[in-house]
Amino acid sequence: MNNTACFPGKYIQGSGTILNLEHLINRFGNKAIILASPSARKFLPESFFHTPLSQQFVVEIFGGECSEVALTDFSNRIRNEKADVVVGMGGGKAIDTAKIAADRAGLPVIIVPTIASTDAPCSGCAVTYSTDGEFEKVHYQRLNPSVVLVDMEIIAKAPVRFLVAGIGDALATWFEARSCAANSAQNECGGFSTMAGQNLARLCYDVLLKYGVQAKIDNEAHRVSPALNYITEANILLSGIGFESGGIASAHAIHNGFTALPETHAFYHGEKVAFGLLTGLHMMHAPEAEINEVTAFCLAVGLPVTLAEIGVPEIDREKLMKVALKSTEEGSTIHHEGKGITAEKVFEAIIKADAYGRQLFMKPAHSG
Ligand SMILES: [Zn+2]
Repeated sequence: MNNTACFPGKYIQGSGTILNLEHLINRFGNKAIILASPSARKFLPESFFHTPLSQQFVVEIFGGECSEVALTDFSNRIRNEKADVVVGMGGGKAIDTAKIAADRAGLPVIIVPTIASTDAPCSGCAVTYSTDGEFEKVHYQRLNPSVVLVDMEIIAKAPVRFLVAGIGDALATWFEARSCAANSAQNECGGFSTMAGQNLARLCYDVLLKYGVQAKIDNEAHRVSPALNYITEANILLSGIGFESGGIASAHAIHNGFTALPETHAFYHGEKVAFGLLTGLHMMHAPEAEINEVTAFCLAVGLPVTLAEIGVPEIDREKLMKVALKSTEEGSTIHHEGKGITAEKVFEAIIKADAYGRQLFMKPAHSG
């Protein structure tokens, strides 16, 4: 197996970049189909709704789940409209649907994330869920998106919970890449980890620790600031390249496990990934100082550190074993942490991580 890395064709981040979308579409084709979540559609520039431009694109509103049913519908629309460029606009699931459908149709895809909630925009892989929201499968595309276009004015307007969820997704990147390198596990682009993957993952973690809290404050004030710019790049670009070219491990596997419980579906990907990361650190007996650093950061930015915060208020062995079994099923990336990971170990680590998090809440704020 070779060392492999993959990247988006072009990454553009700045204020007002959405105005470049028309030009970008024209560079790739004659007719665009734009898959937009209901809240993302309003960010399309006014010019899109006037002739002649309005004849060169159609907007399809995204239904909410990246499932095979949604993919079949959207693929049919692409064919019927004879589109030659696909644009995915919105959050992780709208983006993933656009990426898979574009790949199946053999068309270039331009991604416009309107929230910085996941590292899906830059990657060449996407995840499908059942119509009930349970994790099903990872799909690998032939190429990463041709363009990722991030408009900071749009990102700054989004509710802060999205940015925090993106921080949770990005927080796991370095730890998962590190595990993959240590165990010579395959990354998400079909090879061994590269220096690019490892170092961008590490940079991602450092940027989060340094600017995460400030970026949250700025996002709450809907202010485009240096910190918000750095964290947006960390959440979308650094984490995107970091997880794909560095590899994923227990945090995402445990996230996938939690999707087996319907009560966790109201919580975002990155929120569950953050708790998955904490569980993974306990499971692998990470140094106390490291567990402290990550947990304290989660508390500081408002990421979940307890089960209750991802919708599981009571410890129910049967339910949590369901999570643990799904996390450890054959082919799960949890095995990138090394040999001998069992459902029982995951179950115990979930309990440990939850107890650790709950005990932090009981401490007075300044007791250290
Ligand atoms: Zn993720």
